[in-house]
Amino acid sequence: MKSFIKYCAAIAIFASGLIAAPAKTPQKLLTVTVIDVGQGDCSLIQLPGGKTVLVDAGSGGVGWNPFDAGTTIVVPFLKRMGVKRIDYIIMSHPHSDHIGGVRLVVRDIEVGTLVDSGFPAEEADYEMIMEIAEKKDIALMEVHAGDILNWDKDCEMKVLSPPAKYIMGGDSHANENSIVFKLTYKDVSFLFTGDAEKEAGKQIVRFYKDDLLCTFLKVSHHGSKNSLTYNWFLDWAQPIVSIICVGQNTWGHPHRGTIKTLEDYGSLVYRTDRDGTIKIVTDGKTYKTSFIVPEEDEKDYSGGYE
Ligand SMILES: [Zn+2]
Repeated sequence: MKSFIKYCAAIAIFASGLIAAPAKTPQKLLTVTVIDVGQGDCSLIQLPGGKTVLVDAGSGGVGWNPFDAGTTIVVPFLKRMGVKRIDYIIMSHPHSDHIGGVRLVVRDIEVGTLVDSGFPAEEADYEMIMEIAEKKDIALMEVHAGDILNWDKDCEMKVLSPPAKYIMGGDSHANENSIVFKLTYKDVSFLFTGDAEKEAGKQIVRFYKDDLLCTFLKVSHHGSKNSLTYNWFLDWAQPIVSIICVGQNTWGHPHRGTIKTLEDYGSLVYRTDRDGTIKIVTDGKTYKTSFIVPEEDEKDYSGGYE
């Protein structure tokens, strides 16, 4: 698919140090790419030490969502980027628009470890993923709030939610028990929030408020009105850039009020349905953001379903 090939705009933000500095030793870079998978979530993390992490993989064409982002977008994207192996796939929570595409990634790409919170899955995708994982001898790992992931010696990865005793209450237990984690590389950090909502937010603020300050926020739950953009959450997070993963949908994501709240906080808001795939490269001090936007007439996949 040609869609992602066209680099539309490269906006450099505070990028002088990253681009111009005549490095005496090769710079170690962290790259985070939030991939436009239509309605769903998918981010690729390429750690400075070389390990690769995929956080969700969009939908997989099973069940209520007929769109197969895994085959159509994620696997071809990884291959185009030269990613031959994913060391870890973090499945934020077992909903189709997050883990559906994981089935196609584990089928087509070498994967080291599947990571989830152990929260019971109701949708068929999860079982299908586990069947392939067993056949291919892929390791499984369960994480909970407080865990530190030592996957790169220069980065800190800390899990902030869910707790071992799962969160109950709220609109959706699965959403509320999304894996929320913070990735920090020196002065630049990313907060990944899955589809976590209010109840998760309360616990995170209660136990980990000092970990929330971030440069980039992957806005939870596709920017819905239940996303973690409450003032009591943003007061701690204060993201410079907020990224909403969203495609055409019938729920009204992202909510206008969510975007307004983020903008009122002075956060720059990007959204995959308008800005395409968003790539951030950082040396831990400065960062450069660029966008990979599909040709307008090729953007058929963003619909996903209706
Ligand atoms: Zn979702």
